[in-house]
Amino acid sequence: MTIKDKVIVITGASSGIGQATAEVLAKDGAKLVLGARREDRLKAIATKFPAGQVLYQKTDVTDRQSVASLVELAKNQFGRVDVLYNNAGLMPISELSELKVDEWERMIDVNIKGVLYGIAAVLPIMIAQNQGHVITTDSVAGHIVHPGTAVYAGTKYAIQAIMDGLRQEQVAHHIRTTMISPGAVNTELFSTITNPQTRARIEKDEKENGLAAADVANAVAYAIDQPDNVAINEVLLRPRSQKL
Ligand code: NDP
Repeated sequence: MTIKDKVIVITGASSGIGQATAEVLAKDGAKLVLGARREDRLKAIATKFPAGQVLYQKTDVTDRQSVASLVELAKNQFGRVDVLYNNAGLMPISELSELKVDEWERMIDVNIKGVLYGIAAVLPIMIAQNQGHVITTDSVAGHIVHPGTAVYAGTKYAIQAIMDGLRQEQVAHHIRTTMISPGAVNTELFSTITNPQTRARIEKDEKENGLAAADVANAVAYAIDQPDNVAINEVLLRPRSQKL
């Protein structure tokens, strides 16, 4: 089985990379369960496809039970979970001296703990199936830190450790892991930045130079659409013009 008929759960599916991935995978015949906080956006995506193919549920990834319930929906409706795509994230970047401690905590809650809650929800199911695939949106920021990205990059470096630990531990249960690590992508991610100058700079860069969300979605589809013995552990992709 490649993409067609796979049961795939996506968090952060209401915009940007998550939405584009949902649309690419649904066109390829996957059965999808989409989660995010903006339910109206999820509904608008689901209604583009035949009834019953794309389900959705309002989900907050900072709430373990909310993530567990999203995964349960997939298991109950479709009988299994082939892929979890942990994609929800936010990027309110700032220098540490700005002391935006609440934003640091929010990034840790969504970008790290949200991913861990996803893993916790699917792991028992995938171990029992003796098959599964966990994908997480990491970033070039999981490899390189700049002034202003210390905490955001810290969350993405953490994903490198968590995902590689998962990979090593679950070889025996045939669970594949993939990190999708984009550079700049033209999405709504800049909107979480509260420093006006930084926000304007990142918005301009993402709009003028960023990849399209569909470019990243194609990388996700590539990782899923492999023979079962092939694990694409990371895809690192940048706009051609991005140096670092
Ligand atoms: P968007 O802002 O367009 O998408 C972010 C998604 O995360 C939305 O669907 C949002 O949904 C969801 N989300 C945020 N907080 C929560 C929450 N508490 N619970 C559930 N869902 C949540 O940006 P992108 O598409 O760019 O971001 C997707 C991922 O890509 C992130 O992990 C980001 O770090 C990563 N990334 C992005 C890059 C870029 O340049 N854009 C580069 C590298 C990585 P809602 O608000 O409806 O809950």
